[in-house]
Amino acid sequence: MYDAIVVGAGPAGCTAAKMLAEKGRKVLLAEKCKMPRYKSCSGVLIKKSMDLVKTYFGEAVPASATCTPTQNRGMVFTDDKGKEYRFEQEGLNVWRSHFDGWLAKKAKESGAEVKDGVTALACTEKDGFVEVSLRGEDSVTECAKYVIDCEGVVGTLKRQIFGQIPPASKRRMIARDANQIAENPTEESGYITTFQTFNEGSIDLDPHYFYAYLQPELSQYDAWFNVKDDLLVLGVSVKDMDVITNYYNRFIDYMKEKHHLHIDRQTKEEKWLMPHIRPGCHVDHGVGRILFAGEIAGFLNPMGEGISAGMESGYCAACALMEHFDDPESVREAYRKRTEELQAYMTRQWSLVGGMADTFSEMA
Ligand SMILES: Cc1cc2nc3c(=O)[nH]c(=O)nc-3n(C[C@H](O)[C@H](O)[C@H](O)COP(=O)(O)OP(=O)(O)OC[C@H]3O[C@@H](n4cnc5c(N)ncnc54)[C@H](O)[C@@H]3O)c2cc1C
Repeated sequence: MYDAIVVGAGPAGCTAAKMLAEKGRKVLLAEKCKMPRYKSCSGVLIKKSMDLVKTYFGEAVPASATCTPTQNRGMVFTDDKGKEYRFEQEGLNVWRSHFDGWLAKKAKESGAEVKDGVTALACTEKDGFVEVSLRGEDSVTECAKYVIDCEGVVGTLKRQIFGQIPPASKRRMIARDANQIAENPTEESGYITTFQTFNEGSIDLDPHYFYAYLQPELSQYDAWFNVKDDLLVLGVSVKDMDVITNYYNRFIDYMKEKHHLHIDRQTKEEKWLMPHIRPGCHVDHGVGRILFAGEIAGFLNPMGEGISAGMESGYCAACALMEHFDDPESVREAYRKRTEELQAYMTRQWSLVGGMADTFSEMA
């Protein structure tokens, strides 16, 4: 019997597992991919994320997790009227595979049992514990007093928990890569699809900044540019997958005209998903002995900044569990209370960006 099974070794899961393990709890951190796993991400650690790493993990992000230019100096937003807003702030440029791999290593050093290549298929709450079906090399059932579900955006496990997996005949895939398949993408399912490419080439922008473009003609949400290890990363996000190429091509033309973008060679392209955050920034904290943290709970800031919210919510879930271990209802209530400030921060951030652009106007 574990005290907790944490599902997913992203920022939320690693933080929750580390915190519980260092307090002496018996923890299993199950990750479906082989570590270090790939995650489509701009890899910008804002100052808040860097500070949380120091607070929760006791040290700064190692150089081995970073890419060039190592420093991120802030964000430059262009609003829907073409006006530029510059937010200067210290940050870091990381590869997520290395960063998350390091977080998982820290959780393991604190005593968490870390198993990669292991997928949590289902959770069933029993009398006083949760049964979790895991599929790795073998299929096993493990038991835990609590589950902290930190599975990231797609939420197959969460939908199973809520009994909402639609029949296969009704499913349609909208995004696919090595790790990710999302199904049944109705408006209500609440996904934004992201598409980004990595390119060799040149541009007249300072590579130390992350650039977000909020003009509605360039994306249905935002379009972005940043640099990772000399590769120019260009992306767009949409609500409707069918128009993704149109928006992307328009964004490339815009960057050519405004910033002298020149692409010599595209080295990679990838699609991914993000939660579609709605006004009010609704969060699911959990049900019974199962808590949700990170993106699957709904913790995400504008421009897709979710690492800080992932770590903070994972930490809060673990603290709530430590405080009220014998009373699941109090655990959920304490978790909700501990994340009130984070939710208020998210709401403020979304409203700020909502006021800048039509693409985010529902949040204003
Ligand atoms: C294109 C793009 C750019 C982004 N850029 C940034 C950025 O620059 N800065 C930033 O802060 N955020 C960024 N984000 C958001 C950020 O990546 C996420 O918000 C963050 O990773 C969420 O952390 P998490 O721990 O909740 O989930 P994740 O990091 O997604 O981790 C979830 C883990 O759970 C595993 N998993 C899923 N299901 C199961 C299962 N059933 N069993 C076992 N394991 C499972 C997955 O394999 C994964 O490793 C970006 C997102 C996208 C799509």
